[in-house]
Amino acid sequence: MSKLNTEKSKKAFAEAQSFIPGGVNSPVRAFGAVGGTPIFIKSGSGCHLTDVDGNTYVDYVGSWGPLILGHAEPRIVKRIHEAVANGTSYGAPTELEIKLAQLMKEAMPSLEKVRMVNSGTEATMSAIRLARGFTKRDAVIKFEGCYHGHVDSLLIQAGSGATTLGTPTSPGIPQDFVKHTISLPYNNIDAVNEVCSKRGKDIACIIVEAVAGNMGVVLPKKGYLEGLREITKRHGIVLILDEVMTGFRVAHGGVQSLYNITPDLTTLGKIIGGGLPVGAYGGKKEIMDTISPVGPVYQAGTLSGNPVAMTAGIATLEILRDGNIYKTLEEKSKRLAAGMEKACKDAGIPAYHTRLGSMLCTFFTDQPVTDYATAKRCDTKRYAKFFHGMLERGFYFAPSQFEAVFVSMAHGEKEIDATVNAFREVIKGF
Ligand SMILES: *Cc1c(COP(=O)(O)O)cnc(C)c1O
Repeated sequence: MSKLNTEKSKKAFAEAQSFIPGGVNSPVRAFGAVGGTPIFIKSGSGCHLTDVDGNTYVDYVGSWGPLILGHAEPRIVKRIHEAVANGTSYGAPTELEIKLAQLMKEAMPSLEKVRMVNSGTEATMSAIRLARGFTKRDAVIKFEGCYHGHVDSLLIQAGSGATTLGTPTSPGIPQDFVKHTISLPYNNIDAVNEVCSKRGKDIACIIVEAVAGNMGVVLPKKGYLEGLREITKRHGIVLILDEVMTGFRVAHGGVQSLYNITPDLTTLGKIIGGGLPVGAYGGKKEIMDTISPVGPVYQAGTLSGNPVAMTAGIATLEILRDGNIYKTLEEKSKRLAAGMEKACKDAGIPAYHTRLGSMLCTFFTDQPVTDYATAKRCDTKRYAKFFHGMLERGFYFAPSQFEAVFVSMAHGEKEIDATVNAFREVIKGF
C-alpha cells in the first residue's frame, strides 16, 4: 500500500500553527495521540471526506457525532440555503425555536421545557448552574472518564479515594473552582451511595454520560443508571443525563428511552444542530422555570436559537422521526462491529468491542473496559498503528483510542465491507 500524498495538508498545518495555537481549534484534531500531521479537509459528501490533496476517505468521525445522516445531506443543505436567504440572525424569538423544541420533546418526553444554546459545553455548564440555583446546593458529582465539554468545574482529576479533593486537570482553573466537584469512578454505584449517604444534602446534581463515549464507548452496567436515578431521587439531587453525544444517536429518544430512565435535566448538542453549532438543555418544568427571565438563574446567548442552526436541526430531526432509520443504522453498525471483532479473533489480536446503536469502539486490550481505569489500560501505540494503517487505506477514524466510531446513514455495505477488509490487512501488521 503506497503512502498517501499529503503535501498540502502538511503545508497547511505548518501555516496554521503560526496563526492558531497548535494549528487547530480543538486539540484532538492535531493528531497528538497518534502522531503525524492532521489531514486538512476540503469537503464532505455522504460518508466521504476529501482532503486538500485530493485524497478521499470513508469517514467514521462524522464531525464527532452530529452527522448521523452523512455530510451535505441534500435535504438539509436545501433547507439551510433557504434559511440563510431569510437572514442569518435576529436576536429575537422565532417560530423555528418552538418547532425544534417540539421535535425534541416528541422524542424525549422528559424535556418538558428546553433552552437552546450554542454548544454542548454551554449546555452542561448552564445545566449545572441551574441545578445549583434550583437546589441551593453547591456540590456536583461527575465520573472519571466522562467528558462534558470544557466546563471549569468539571475539568478535574479524582483525588486518591473519596476523601481526597480532586485537582484541576488544566492550569487556569483555580483549585477553588473544583472544590465543590466530586469525581467518582464510572459504573460503581457503591461509590455514589457512599458519598450521597454522607453528603446528600450538599449535592446539587449528578452529571453523567449515560453511555460514555469520551473514553471510548463504555456501556453502563446493569442497574447502574437505575441506581443513579434512585439515589438522586432519595436525596433530592438533580440527575443530569448528558446526552450531547447519545441523543438522537443510540435511539430516537436517546439513552433515556432505551434504559427507561427519566432524568431531571438532559443536555444535548451535536445531532440536534444538524451539523451547525447548537446545544440545548431541558427537563422538568419546575426546574427549567428557575432560569431567567422566569426565575432568578441567569443564562443568555446572542446567537442562541439561531435561525439557520434551528433550521438544520429541524430538518435533521424531521428525517430522524422515521423509525426505520435506527433499524438501518443498527444493521450497518452491527455489520461493521461484527466484522472488526471477527477480524481480531481470526488474527489473534486481543481487543474488547463495545457498541450501542451506531456508536462503537474497539479497545486494544485483553480485558473488559467498564470505566476509565480499565480504558486506560489499552495499547494506545497499537491504536496509533491502526489509525495510520486505516488512514493510508482511505478510512478516517478518530485520532485517539478514547473516542467513538460513528456510523451514519450514508455508509453503505460496500464501504463497511471495504473497511473490514482494510482492517484485516492493517492488524496483520501488528
Ligand atoms: C461533545 C460533548 C460535549 C461537549 O460539546 P461541545 O459542543 O464540544 O462543547 C459534552 N458532553 C458530551 C457527552 C459530549 O460528547
